[in-house]
Amino acid sequence: MKGFAMLKIGATGWIEKPRPAAGPFDAVVAPLALAPCTSDIHTVYSGALGDRHNLILGHEAVGKVVEVGSEVRHIKPGDRVVVPAITPDWRTLDIQHGVPHQHSEYLLSGWKFSNDKDGVFAEFFHVNDADMNLARLPDDITLEQAAMMPDMMTTGFHGAELANVQFGATVAVIGIGPVGLMAVAAAVLRGAGRVFAVGSRPHCAEIAKGYGATDIINYKNGDIVKQIIDKNGGKGTDHVIVAGGPENVLAQAVDIVKAGGTIGNINYFGEGAMLEIPRLAWGCGMAHKTINAGLCPGGRGRMERMIALVANGRVDPSKLVTHKFNGLEGVEKGLALMKDKPADVIKPLALI
Ligand code: NAD
Ligand code: ZN
Repeated sequence: MKGFAMLKIGATGWIEKPRPAAGPFDAVVAPLALAPCTSDIHTVYSGALGDRHNLILGHEAVGKVVEVGSEVRHIKPGDRVVVPAITPDWRTLDIQHGVPHQHSEYLLSGWKFSNDKDGVFAEFFHVNDADMNLARLPDDITLEQAAMMPDMMTTGFHGAELANVQFGATVAVIGIGPVGLMAVAAAVLRGAGRVFAVGSRPHCAEIAKGYGATDIINYKNGDIVKQIIDKNGGKGTDHVIVAGGPENVLAQAVDIVKAGGTIGNINYFGEGAMLEIPRLAWGCGMAHKTINAGLCPGGRGRMERMIALVANGRVDPSKLVTHKFNGLEGVEKGLALMKDKPADVIKPLALI
């Protein structure tokens, strides 16, 4: 089969590999829609996961099941499914410790596509533990909507969960790429009052307003800490969700959040050995400013909840899709867009 791969750090290309086979609990899926991601760019061009050779890229997919293993009961060949980016092993002891996507001996263990094994940018891909990881897609949800669930929606929504957004609260969302835009939508769904969305691109700002942001803060117009605190009557916000920006953004979040507030970080920090926390703004360790940070949850139950939000009209994630391509070849064009990031790109999609 054909797949689009990381050949080595800094290089991509089309390769041929044998079609994967399903183990007893697994499935083989053919893609219907594939979304390139900023994380694929980190994997290839920053070597975020280390050097990999001929590793098929991609972790955001909707597909059709073509084969299931002998022990699979819920999922059948022919089912259209949402495939979460994170597919934990649901038969390990770690599951009983409350964070199924983190193994006690190695971090981010639920992230398998294009990390532990080949990703989804291929004619076929393998899914471990199909009954526990694949969610059947209802007919009335579009591929554009469904393709935003495996990573963008679940991650943005996790930002609001990690920040523990309460109704009526003030929230700052730093970074309004696709993940941050979903974090804005999630904060609003959790009942936030005022939502400051920090971004610079006019198209993203418009979509953020559409998802319920009340104020747009442009980080190119000066210090965002000052801009937000000034607009918020001299006070910090109850919550900050970090969904973009360089290494100093976590320090900015500590400056922005008020005493007793919570920061939810879903941003990936790719540089340096340490992240800084401003000592005084953190009350010398005594300000009750909580920082939660995590990998997006995956699995079937999580995807079924994303589906329920869309099916019941609570959110329409298809607004993130700015560029569409036909055919598997579209992943190459989409990935090039994610690398160069022209101002009008939020999320490209290949429809197969
Ligand atoms: P993105 O690059 O499309 O969006 C990030 C946005 O932040 C961009 O619009 C960029 O212009 C903006 N930005 C840059 N500098 C900024 C600054 N100083 N202040 C505010 N905003 C700034 O990426 P994305 O797909 O939206 O993902 C956001 C982050 O989440 C990335 O770091 C990504 O790697 C990470 N991510 C994490 C998980 C997870 O499981 N935790 C999953 C997916 C993505
Ligand atoms: Zn992704």
